[in-house]
Amino acid sequence: MTNAMPKSVGYVVVGAGIHGLSTAWHLAMELKAKGKGSGADVVVLDKTGVGAGASGIACGCVRNLYMTEPLHAILRHSVDVWSYDPVAFGFQQVGYVSAGEANQAEDYERLAASQKRVGYHSEVFHGKDAKKFLRNIWPDFKTDGIDVVLHEKISGYAGTRQAVNGLAQKCKDHGVRIFSDVEVKGYDTTSGRVSAVRTNQGDIRCDAVVWGLGAWTPKHWAMLGKSDTIEARYADGEVQKKDMWTYWRLLEGEVYTPDFTYRTAEDRDPPVLHVELMNTPLVDQMTGKELSDNVYIYWKNGAERMDRPGIQGGTMPIKIGPKAVTDPYGHANDEYQADSWFADYMTSAMGQLMDRFQKCRPNFRERRNGGIGAFTPDNVPIFDWVAPNVYMIADSNHGFKMTGAGKLVARMLVGGNRVSELMPFALDRFQKGKTFGKSNSHCPWV
Ligand SMILES: Cc1cc2nc3c(=O)[nH]c(=O)nc-3n(C[C@H](O)[C@H](O)[C@H](O)COP(=O)(O)OP(=O)(O)OC[C@H]3O[C@@H](n4cnc5c(N)ncnc54)[C@H](O)[C@@H]3O)c2cc1C
Repeated sequence: MTNAMPKSVGYVVVGAGIHGLSTAWHLAMELKAKGKGSGADVVVLDKTGVGAGASGIACGCVRNLYMTEPLHAILRHSVDVWSYDPVAFGFQQVGYVSAGEANQAEDYERLAASQKRVGYHSEVFHGKDAKKFLRNIWPDFKTDGIDVVLHEKISGYAGTRQAVNGLAQKCKDHGVRIFSDVEVKGYDTTSGRVSAVRTNQGDIRCDAVVWGLGAWTPKHWAMLGKSDTIEARYADGEVQKKDMWTYWRLLEGEVYTPDFTYRTAEDRDPPVLHVELMNTPLVDQMTGKELSDNVYIYWKNGAERMDRPGIQGGTMPIKIGPKAVTDPYGHANDEYQADSWFADYMTSAMGQLMDRFQKCRPNFRERRNGGIGAFTPDNVPIFDWVAPNVYMIADSNHGFKMTGAGKLVARMLVGGNRVSELMPFALDRFQKGKTFGKSNSHCPWV
């Protein structure tokens, strides 16, 4: 960076991932539009650089398959942001297809209705129609056991490096300064308000701080002296004492397709595919042994992640617990790489579902993969003030897709009003008996 760090600024955004960058860019636009300032009033600080956290290694799926209905509106805004400049953000609006067994049929209907209410276009197919829908796109789809399909038409995927670089460029175009290698070490507070952010390169006085800290959120939560446990109250009166933060590690990988290009029957880039079959065992295609008593898999075109044509996907994350090592992060951390069994799992699931992937285990790309995320007590994002002038975007590791969160947060910060879409995600939901409940899935992401 050529700019010197300012001694004082309006907004300090900590973290140059999806949320920090989207918030900073939208802040610049909101300040200008309201005649209250410009991008010059916003700095983004990152201890490493743009996309150094989960945002730079995410799979890149942009979907709205959430049992937690208030998230549907957040995703509606997010698709607007992705569509604002799809080329700059690498957004491919190929759609998203989720397939399940009969036990999810009612859920799919419910969430499609909720998606429709916020203008997120999707449709549900049952029984023979579900199978037919899948085979129209993927003629070799083995649809035994599949009873229901949700098709989200406006979802898709994005290239992760393209997305963070595109967002960083938007920030710069609007006068926001981004500083790499600047680590926030602490906060000076006066009566609970942060008066200055302490960094390894000096202090910055500021009016407000925004956290887009991903897996490092718990560390800064502790810096503000907050508790590492919480009482979560549910609507039925149940109260559970929970860890405030729980780390999970992700299992993702890539498979080459040396003999074909992964396309639909109409020779298009296929929708992102997600399949959860809670009552169908997954069988190893090479050994015939049962790997699991259920199937959970998602995949998409590997796109920017691949050096040769192939697909990228993953399965359910694995819980680590309330403590984890965040540095080094991602592919650089020896402890949290995808396990060796995952390659068998992923390739077997693909082969079990589509003929074209029969016995594709040898095509698994052997390399470091995975990463960790910090989940909230109910696995649903928290968007809220954590001090009078510190706003936290803690996405519970859902959030590469959630570019709309930054847009809404910027609107709230500049307008000073409550933004209805953000309100269900307030921190006081745990106290007020509005903790989000359990969902009909084995996975913490829905
Ligand atoms: C392997 C993997 C796959 C995923 N796939 C998907 C997906 O397909 N779709 C989806 O929607 N989500 C996905 N996610 C989740 C998603 O990537 C994250 O939820 C999201 O990127 C978090 O964004 P963020 O901006 O909050 O944090 P991050 O992108 O983690 O950014 C936080 C930044 O803060 C910086 N930082 C940390 N501490 C400090 C400090 N003290 N001072 C200054 N800077 C600091 C870090 O360097 C980092 O750049 C995936 C996550 C992983 C790990």
